[in-house]
Amino acid sequence: MFNNKEAFKQVFTELLVSRLGKGLEEATAEDAYKILGGMIREFVGSQWAASNRTYRDTKQKQVYYFSMEFLIGRLLGANLLNLGLLDIVRSGLKELGWELEELEEQEPDAGLGNGGLGRLAACFLDSLASLSYAGHGCGIRYRYGLFEQRIMDGEQVELPDNWLRDGNVWEERRADKAVEISFWGRVEISERDGKTVFDTVEDERILAVPYDMPVIGYGESQVNTLRLWSAEATVDSAAIRLSHQSGYYRYLEYARQVESISEFLYPDDKSYEGKLLRLKQQYFLSSAGVQSILRTFDKLGLPYRELPEHAAIHINDTHPTLVIPELIRILIDDKGLGWDEAWEVAHRTVSYTNHTLMSEALEKWPAGMVRELLPRIYMIIEEMNKRFCGMLLARYPQQMERISELAIIEGDQIRMANLAAWGSYHINGVAGLHTELLKTDVMKHHYELYPERFSNKTNGITHRRWLIHSNPGLTRLISSAIGTEWINDPLALRELEAYKRDAAFQERLMRIKQDNKRRLADFIAARQGVRVDPDSLFDVHVKRLHGYKRQLLNILRVIHDYNEMKERPTVPRVPRTVIFGAKAAPGYDLAKSIIQLIHAVADVINRDPEVNDKLRVLFLENYSVSLAEKIIPAADVSEQISTAGKEASGTGNMKFMMNGALTIGTLDGANVEMHRMIGEEHMFLFGLRAEEVLELSRSGGYFARACYEQDARIARVLDQLAYPSPFSRHGRPFGRILQALLDHNDEYFVLKDFHAYVTAQAAVEKAYVNPRRWAESAIVNIAHSGRFSSDCTIARYASEIWRVLPVKKG
Ligand SMILES: *Cc1c(COP(=O)(O)O)cnc(C)c1O
Repeated sequence: MFNNKEAFKQVFTELLVSRLGKGLEEATAEDAYKILGGMIREFVGSQWAASNRTYRDTKQKQVYYFSMEFLIGRLLGANLLNLGLLDIVRSGLKELGWELEELEEQEPDAGLGNGGLGRLAACFLDSLASLSYAGHGCGIRYRYGLFEQRIMDGEQVELPDNWLRDGNVWEERRADKAVEISFWGRVEISERDGKTVFDTVEDERILAVPYDMPVIGYGESQVNTLRLWSAEATVDSAAIRLSHQSGYYRYLEYARQVESISEFLYPDDKSYEGKLLRLKQQYFLSSAGVQSILRTFDKLGLPYRELPEHAAIHINDTHPTLVIPELIRILIDDKGLGWDEAWEVAHRTVSYTNHTLMSEALEKWPAGMVRELLPRIYMIIEEMNKRFCGMLLARYPQQMERISELAIIEGDQIRMANLAAWGSYHINGVAGLHTELLKTDVMKHHYELYPERFSNKTNGITHRRWLIHSNPGLTRLISSAIGTEWINDPLALRELEAYKRDAAFQERLMRIKQDNKRRLADFIAARQGVRVDPDSLFDVHVKRLHGYKRQLLNILRVIHDYNEMKERPTVPRVPRTVIFGAKAAPGYDLAKSIIQLIHAVADVINRDPEVNDKLRVLFLENYSVSLAEKIIPAADVSEQISTAGKEASGTGNMKFMMNGALTIGTLDGANVEMHRMIGEEHMFLFGLRAEEVLELSRSGGYFARACYEQDARIARVLDQLAYPSPFSRHGRPFGRILQALLDHNDEYFVLKDFHAYVTAQAAVEKAYVNPRRWAESAIVNIAHSGRFSSDCTIARYASEIWRVLPVKKG
C-alpha cells in the first residue's frame, strides 16, 4: 500500500478526503490519528491473513494465552515500529504539518488490566509475534477499562474509562465466530444408546462475540490475534419467548444484564468483589475461548486425543481456570469422549502461571454459587475432586491434613489454585525467589506430589516498547556503540559493559537522561502546572498502590528527610524530586489514605521555601502505560521496596533498569536476579530478607509499637501524622495509617525496615554526586537488562512448557 514517503503522503491525504470529507487544513489531530490507524490496520490485513493461512496449512501447534487482563496501552507507535514504518510515517506526516507524537497522543490507552499481570500479558503477545510463534491472546473486551484516576483536594476520585467512545481502529468484530455460553439451569441425566448423557436444561444462553486485534511482530515475523470477547443478548427463540411472555421491558432488562458481563474490568488486584459477576466473567472467557479453539481444531479433522499436540492453553493466574472443566465438559457432552480420555486431553493441554504468594489473594469460590450458576461445570469439578482425593488417599493414607489442604473442594469453597495445579501439566512461578517459595511454602504439597510439573519463568518486558519506542535517544546511543544486533538479540546488550568506563559514552548517556528529564518536566508543567527542576535527582516510585509495595515507607522517609532539612538547613543535600504515581483500588481505604498522605506532605514541602531547592514531592495522576512510557526514561532512581517475599516478580523494576535508572530495593521478586547479575555495587539493597520476614511472621517476634517507642526518629515522624498534624488539613485524616502501623502491628514491616531504607537513601545521595561512577552503574544496569526482555522469557515458555517452535514466514 505504501512503502515510501511520497506514497504514504498520497494515500493519507486521499483517505482524509474520501473517509472524512476533509482537506488537510480542516483535519484535527484526532482525524489524522484515525486515518493513520486505519491505514496501518489495513496495511497488515494481508499479512494477518497470510499468517493465519500458514498456521492452518502447516497444522502448527497454536498457543492460546488466556488472561482476564491485557494492559496494552497505545498501539500506534509500537505497531509502526514493528512494521518498520516509523521513519517513513514520521517524516511524511511532518511534511504534511503533523508531528507523529501528537497523533499518538490521540489514541486512548487500552487499559484492560490492573497492573503487572495484565502488562505481562501484553508484553508476551508482542514477544510471541516478534519471535514468530503461533501464539494468541484470549481475553475480555471490557467496555470500561481500569478507572481513570483524578485527584481532587488531594484525594483519589475514580472516573469510568470509556476507552471505546470514539471507536477502536485496531479491532475487527467477527459476528460469524460468535459462540453461545450457558448459565444457570439444571442438569438432566439420562441413558441414550447405552451411554450416560448430561443435558443442561432451562438454562440462560448468551452470546459471546469476538473482536479480533492483530498483534504485529517486529520485522519479518508473524501477525497473531488478540481475541477479546464481548457479551451480547441472543435474539433466538428463547429470547423471543421471554419477550412474548414477560414483555419487552423484561427482555431489555435481560439484555442489559447480559451485557454487564463484559461491561467493566474489576479494579482490584488482589481481592474480588461482586463475586457472582466476576465468576460469570471468568466462565464467559473460559467457555468462549475453549469453544473457539475447538472450532479451529475441528477443521484439522484429527481425533481429540491429538489436541495437546496442536494446542497449548496457558492460564495467566487462576482467573481462567475454568477452561479445564469446560474443556472436559465439551469433550464428554458434545464430542462423546469418556471421562478418562477427556480428563487426559484437558490435563495435557493446559499450563498455569501462579502470580502470588499472598494467601488472601488465592482465589476461592463458594461452591454453592458455582453449583447454581454452572451446574454441569460443578459436577465436573466435583468428579475431579473425588478422583484426586481418591488418589491422594491411596498415596498418603492417614494424612488427612495434607489431603484436605490439597483438595479442590474444601468445606463450601472451591480453591482455584488447587484446581489449576491438579488439572494442568505445568505450573510456573514468575521469578526465582517466587518459584522457590511456591515449592517450599504456598504449593509445597503440590510440589511434593509432582515436582516435575514445576519450573521458574522469570517475567520479562518487551524491549521494543520499553526501550526502543519510549527512549529513542538511548536506543540511538546504544546502536552507535554496539550496532543494532541487540534489537533482535537483547542479550547482546551485554556488549555495553565494554563502555562502562568510557568517559565520552558516559557523558552522552547522562545527556540523554538529562533530555528525558527535561521532557518529563515540561510534560508535568503542562499537565499539572507544577515546575520541577530537571537538574535534581528524579527518584521515582510508580506502580499500583498496595500495602506490600510500601509507598508508605517512601513517604515516611520523605517526612524524615524534611525534618532533617529543617533542623540542619546548612547540611548540603542533593536536590531531589520524589515522584509517585499509583492507582488505589476504590474499596481499599488504607491505600487511599496513603495517596492522601502523599498529597498532604507534598503540599507542605513544595510550599516551604526553606527546602524547595532541595526537595520536592510530586504525585502524577492516572498512572497508566502511556504515562509510564514518559516517566521511566527520565528516572534516576527506581523504587522497588516491597516487603521481601511479597512481590512475586515485578516488571516495573526491569523497565527502569533497561532505561539506566539505579534501583533502591529489597531482595524481592526479580530484584534478586538483578542483584545476582550486576552485584551489590550497582544497586542499593536494604532491609529484611524474605526468610527473615517469614520467620518474624511465623514466630510473632515483631512488635511495631516497640519501634515507635524506642526510636526517636520514627516516633517523630509518626507523631506528625497524629492530630494535630502539620500535614493534615481536615482534622485527622491519617488515623487509618497509624492504626495499620501500630494497632495492627505493621503487617508489611515498614517501621522495621525504616532505618535501613534511610541509610540506603543516604548511599544513593553519596553515589549521585559522583557522575562518573553513577554513569558506570547505569551502563552496567542497561548492559544486563537484556536478560529481562520478554523475548527471553517467551523463548523459555515456548521450548520448556508449550513445546512449540518459531514458524517460518510462508
Ligand atoms: C509495568 C507496569 C506495572 C507493573 O509495575 P510493578 O512495579 O512491577 O508493580 C503496572 N502498571 C503499569 C501501567 C505498568 O506499565
